Amino acid sequence: MTNVLFVVSECAPLIKTGGLADVAGALPRALADHGGEVRVLLPGYRSVLDKLGKTTTAQKLPDLFGGKARLLACKVAGLDLLILDAPHLYDRDGGIYGDETGKDWDDNPERFAALCKAGAMIADAGVDGWRPGIVHGHDWQAGLTPEYMHDLGCDVPFVFTIHNIAFHGNVAGERLDALGLDYGRFDADHFEFWGQISALKAGLMGAAKITTVSRTYAEELLTPDFGMGMDGVLRHRQPDLAGIVNGIDLDAWNPETDPNITPYKATAGKSPNKKAVQAAFGLRKADGPLCVLVSRLTEQKGIDLLLEALPALLDRGGQLALLGSGDPRLEVALHEAAAGHPNVSVKIGYDEALSHLMMAGGDVVLVPSRFEPCGLTQLYGLRYGTLPLVALTGGLADTVINASPAALASGVATGFQFYPVTAQALSNSFVRLCDLYGQPKAWRKAQRNAMAQPVGWETSAAEYHEIYASLAGASS
Ligand code: ADP
Repeated sequence: MTNVLFVVSECAPLIKTGGLADVAGALPRALADHGGEVRVLLPGYRSVLDKLGKTTTAQKLPDLFGGKARLLACKVAGLDLLILDAPHLYDRDGGIYGDETGKDWDDNPERFAALCKAGAMIADAGVDGWRPGIVHGHDWQAGLTPEYMHDLGCDVPFVFTIHNIAFHGNVAGERLDALGLDYGRFDADHFEFWGQISALKAGLMGAAKITTVSRTYAEELLTPDFGMGMDGVLRHRQPDLAGIVNGIDLDAWNPETDPNITPYKATAGKSPNKKAVQAAFGLRKADGPLCVLVSRLTEQKGIDLLLEALPALLDRGGQLALLGSGDPRLEVALHEAAAGHPNVSVKIGYDEALSHLMMAGGDVVLVPSRFEPCGLTQLYGLRYGTLPLVALTGGLADTVINASPAALASGVATGFQFYPVTAQALSNSFVRLCDLYGQPKAWRKAQRNAMAQPVGWETSAAEYHEIYASLAGASS
């Protein structure tokens, strides 16, 4: 396989706000089986620099968007990293995209343009004697990379993956100079989007191949309902668009070895974990299923639908343990729900270890998203024998086999899907869920099916490899 440079704004285990980081951390290792070398270019946020061991300075960049920068090479958790150390852009308190209040940093366009520019320079001239044959950018933060590559006359093929189309990285056209972009390309064929500079569109138009993280999301993106304004651009690029479902890291998420849980092989071993989750959340033993949910709290994730549908679960003796953070209004609404019912408990915050325990101890993992490019927590649920209850959309549609009467009769069900994505349909699925929970034999069969699903990276890494190979072959 040819060498590949990932350009990405987060990467597990160093820095993570969502599924993008999981993919950037796991896919390079999965690709290693195909030969070739993947290096991951990542901003040197303060919290990232704090976690690095030994680094070497691979390159100095005397002026990158108003300050000195350098590329640090290092290895972390089996990943070959190139860290863009640019203190004027990344060394600050607060989050990686915004301040403590959640407000985006004003200089985000420059912060991520710098990442793209560094990526383009590596593509063009190599670093440390290493050169990529493919540049693979992820989401809008990497979108301007092909623009800077074009300016340098670099024709290394660019692959662009959409993890979530909701974020466009738009900025007023007046910032063209500040971002060092070519006025001549500020048009509909490149990165102009309704009078603004759109980093996302730059990536979509500049990519030789576009991928997104499930087949269903690849189809949904072509429609106005899901394309978030980019559906026209995507229809234009449709021949080069492919859906490749995400996998999960089977070592980090392994119920037999997970250090955060009481390990188990078979579903009977889940019960000490269930007790531990109930204890952690202050819930008592209950007759119904323990439903867990781990998520960013945003409109996308359908938390409001869950709150509306919750009585259908609670009336049947079910429980909810929820871990998440985000929209303050949703946090308040969740606290109110928890205060109003002894079988609802909520923890606001981000807690990796607890999220593992919840996957091990839950009976059901809930993902009631309005849209979901792939979704990872339903995959963790499958692996841990925690049946997913999901909205029928995006990757949730592709990864769960609904417990329909036919699927139950033929013994292939792995979870529950509801459609349309409404509180009423979710309520109905809570009823179905509780009915099945009352049939231990059928429930255990579904759990075994879930645990037998292939949720690793093997197949998907091979699909990415095929794309790289076709492009590298075409360009050489
Ligand atoms: P998204 O990328 O839209 O946030 P995904 O389901 O693709 O959704 O990925 C979310 C990832 O972040 C999962 O690994 C999930 O476990 C993790 N996560 C989200 N919120 C929390 C939280 N509060 N604590 C721990 N992990 C979380």
